[in-house]
Amino acid sequence: MPDIMSRPLIRERGVEGARQLEASVSDPSTPVVGILGTGDFSRSLARRLMASGYQVVVGSRTPKRFVALFPEEIEVTTQLEAVTQADLVFVAVYPEHHSTLVELKPALAGKILVDVSNSICISKGPSNAELLADYFPESSVVKGFNTISAWTLQMGPRDGGRQVFLCSNSQKAKNTVKSLCHRMGFIPVDMGLLSSSLEIENMPLYLFPSWRTPVLVTFSLFIFFYLYNFLRDVLQPLVTEKKSVFYKMPIEVVNVTLPSVALVMLSLVYLPGLFAAFLQLRSGTKYNRFPNWLDRWLTMRKQLGLCSFLCSVLHAVYSLCLPLRKSARFKLINMAYKQVKMGIEDSWVDEEVWRMELYLSVGIMALGLLSLLAVTSLPSVANTINWREFSFIQSSLGYCALFMATTHTLLYGWNRAFDPKQYRLYMPPTFVLVLIPPCVVLLGRLALCLPCVAERLRKIRRGWERSRNVCFTLPSEGYRNGLEDISNV
Ligand code: NAP
Repeated sequence: MPDIMSRPLIRERGVEGARQLEASVSDPSTPVVGILGTGDFSRSLARRLMASGYQVVVGSRTPKRFVALFPEEIEVTTQLEAVTQADLVFVAVYPEHHSTLVELKPALAGKILVDVSNSICISKGPSNAELLADYFPESSVVKGFNTISAWTLQMGPRDGGRQVFLCSNSQKAKNTVKSLCHRMGFIPVDMGLLSSSLEIENMPLYLFPSWRTPVLVTFSLFIFFYLYNFLRDVLQPLVTEKKSVFYKMPIEVVNVTLPSVALVMLSLVYLPGLFAAFLQLRSGTKYNRFPNWLDRWLTMRKQLGLCSFLCSVLHAVYSLCLPLRKSARFKLINMAYKQVKMGIEDSWVDEEVWRMELYLSVGIMALGLLSLLAVTSLPSVANTINWREFSFIQSSLGYCALFMATTHTLLYGWNRAFDPKQYRLYMPPTFVLVLIPPCVVLLGRLALCLPCVAERLRKIRRGWERSRNVCFTLPSEGYRNGLEDISNV
């Protein structure tokens, strides 16, 4: 399809020469498109329609006042004259003013009305489009273009969304608007009957609805672990040794908090899948509905994973910055000075060196795998791989990432979990708490891999039901296509 939207828009009224009209010149057979209203949306839409080769006529209450705002190729006239000339009319007027247009009813009879209006807040209905259809029962109302901003119309799709959601009770009217969308360089998305208009009107009003709970969980975990680490690492030295280490708050405490949140969040990505598998095993069927909380949790896994990835990346950046701090340099010099005074020539501890090497290496690998999971969760990438590949990356490699991150934390803890001095204020070290969820998930997954359990689950996922007791033979291993894999919940 020619990229009509990338064409420059047109010259202003009375401006000759320099900015030449690139759009195809309208011919008399081209349908006349009318627009009611002369506001921001109307002006951008009129120019885009004209650049796509349509004849445009704009209807205003006071045409003389606004005529200068439109290029001279566009006719600006009275509302009645505009709708009389046009076959298809965009209503670029706020919905509260739709009622003022009723006197145009006879002129609009049998014509297509496109309602582009949005509401101020999320509504439960009836929609603006349904109300408009009540005002104009003899016209065919199509809802659409409300998710496209005047800015996008003006700048072209590279700077905005391309999809135009459409719905109408008249298939013919919808098809006409669909072809107009195509010609303007947009992609129409058919949303069915006019009853979907409420959903389309609410679309631009949602503020990241699928991210609310994952962000809230991440934030709550961050607060919890930050306070926990603050109590252990900052307040405890102050109370017991009168030592002020408040300087640790911006970097050190945050850098212990971030990986804790990341690991717990990553466990929360895989925990609902295990719950689902165990529920199916218990009920002996896959046809029972999961409880609502589990359903919602399962649909949140992508967002939970991306929040975990963000915390991991921040942890990596903070860790790289640790040696840059003045406090780290002072500590290093003081330690070196103490060693010189004590006459220690070689402070090399083999065990410590190995622990650190492995700790860093496993951490980097975990971050690498998490990056892969994050990239493949992008719709543009996910669309290029098949379901089995997606499942392999998100499930098998995801569990590998969880295992690596758990090992990274275990290596960090090393034998300190058994050191009584680490249990300050009777609080276990943070890494001990943090290790509980991933260990539960990894053990749960291991249990599902036991042949007897895996076989039963695979049968259930292929439709076997315990209560029906149907004779059931699974396809041989060679026929497994990954869809029945136990990890796919
Ligand atoms: P606007 O700049 O305020 O323009 C509204 C136009 O409505 C006015 O210029 C006016 O033109 C006309 N109008 C007709 N009867 C009216 C009356 N009784 N009282 C007041 N005005 C009346 O608004 P807009 O931004 O173009 O938005 C128009 C519609 O497009 C709205 O429903 C909005 O939700 C929708 N929309 C806008 C955008 C956007 O980016 N702006 C995006 C999506 C959807 P005349 O004085 O010439 O009659």
